[in-house]
Amino acid sequence: MNRILKRPLPRNLRPPDPLPDDDTPALRFTPYAWSKLQFMCHVGDTEIGGFGIAREDDLLLIEDFVTVKQHTTAISVEFDDAAVADFFDDQIDVGRQPEQFARIWLHTHPGDSSHPSCTDETTFQRVFGTCSWSVMAILARGGQTYARLQFSAGPGGSMLLPVMIDYSPAFTGSDQEAWLSEYKQNVIPQPVFKQRGHKHEDEIDPFDVDDVFDGVFDDREVLV
Ligand SMILES: [Zn+2]
Repeated sequence: MNRILKRPLPRNLRPPDPLPDDDTPALRFTPYAWSKLQFMCHVGDTEIGGFGIAREDDLLLIEDFVTVKQHTTAISVEFDDAAVADFFDDQIDVGRQPEQFARIWLHTHPGDSSHPSCTDETTFQRVFGTCSWSVMAILARGGQTYARLQFSAGPGGSMLLPVMIDYSPAFTGSDQEAWLSEYKQNVIPQPVFKQRGHKHEDEIDPFDVDDVFDGVFDDREVLV
């Protein structure tokens, strides 16, 4: 046996996994969206959150990662509720359906673990639990990924999704200058001692206002 290959390569050095067959759902990123998410994951030392923009006819294919104004620490993200409302308005204005921009919640972890925190789980259930389907996906700086699809139809359920880069659709080039500008505009790192309120960081919810979705749509059902 080749001793050099006895140990598996670190995940971020391994070649990308092959695309699954048609029957296996996977969360797929265009190279553009993946590069932007990676950029955001490394540009600062905090978590960064946002939404995956999916293609109309392929809702698990993410073509862009869009951030909104947010206060961040190494273990938390708190979205500005007005910014989320503006983001939803803008997406509707350009003709997208909520299932294209309000179902896939993406965020980064500045460490090695992509495992969701208790806060992540609570937020996922509280904010997205009534949607017919939704995805929570996390990229850790160490290269680890996590993605879970949950659905509320029928008895409900959830399943882990492999995360892939899909090179097959056409994709646009990188734009680090614009990404850095977006980062500087939207991401406001918070010193730990300046956390708002009296919450422990673990308890900070990225969707700060309970009814932020209701503020955008008259009826939350529109997201279901
Ligand atoms: Zn998290």
